[in-house]
Amino acid sequence: MRYVGRFAPSPTGLLHPGSLVAALASYLDARQQGGRWLVRIEDVDTPRCILGADVALLEQLRLCGMVSDAPVMYQSQRNAAYKAALGQLIKRGLAYPCGCSRKDIEAAQAEQGRLKQRHTAAVYPGTCRNGLQGKAARAWRLDVQRVIDTLQLPTPLQWQDRRLGEQTQDVAQEVGDFVLRRADGLWAYQLAVVVDDAAQGVSDVVRGEDLADNTARQILLQRALGLPTPRYLHTPLVFGANGEKLSKQNGAQALDLSNPLQAVNQAARVLGLAPFDALAALSVPR
Ligand code: GLU
Repeated sequence: MRYVGRFAPSPTGLLHPGSLVAALASYLDARQQGGRWLVRIEDVDTPRCILGADVALLEQLRLCGMVSDAPVMYQSQRNAAYKAALGQLIKRGLAYPCGCSRKDIEAAQAEQGRLKQRHTAAVYPGTCRNGLQGKAARAWRLDVQRVIDTLQLPTPLQWQDRRLGEQTQDVAQEVGDFVLRRADGLWAYQLAVVVDDAAQGVSDVVRGEDLADNTARQILLQRALGLPTPRYLHTPLVFGANGEKLSKQNGAQALDLSNPLQAVNQAARVLGLAPFDALAALSVPR
């Protein structure tokens, strides 16, 4: 398979030292394997996007020597492709409308004795799987068990990470029927990422380890849509002084790019690379 890699930031803030690690890893992996490297702006969650952050992110990448090998794809332009994918799933009976509010879901979970653990996503109890029961449709969900049964997929789902090794997840039990289109009409990350990785011919997803947990869901969706599954490599996270993972959500400082070489070398160190290795592959302004 011809190597195509990608970096897919959400324009909800600027790059921070943690996201630079993922960007650098995907860039270097693509270069080392003689492949192409693409940037995709994941701006589907419009309420969380910051105006102008896309341009600023691309400029930060450029300062670090990383420029997309093809015009940058914007998820906000991809409505038709997501709609077609959802339509395909609905037609095959693999997606269903859901009329539950968050409160309904919590009440049904409590009834089933499945109390939501802190820091975990709530497992959808399947209330609308067999019909809306008079409720108005709000969101669309994937019928995970039906996908597994129809395609005769093994449970739990196993996949190989190039750094973390063999991974397993029982998506029906641990995640449940996840959302494809949200109640507010926005496309869910899982659907958009799977459709776009396939549309861009991505052979290798290299991204932060905090996203590893999404991979089984994405593989299920790829199978349901008849799309190829890329190879996956999840990169080490960067932790702040308080021991928490650096992320835009917990207020990580934007990268100081007054000295791009220093920032790139710091990211290279997290990847276990000698500074020279990174610099040789990048066209960082000296
Ligand atoms: N847009 C996602 C984020 O910024 C990354 C998606 C991905 O790499 O699969 O967290």
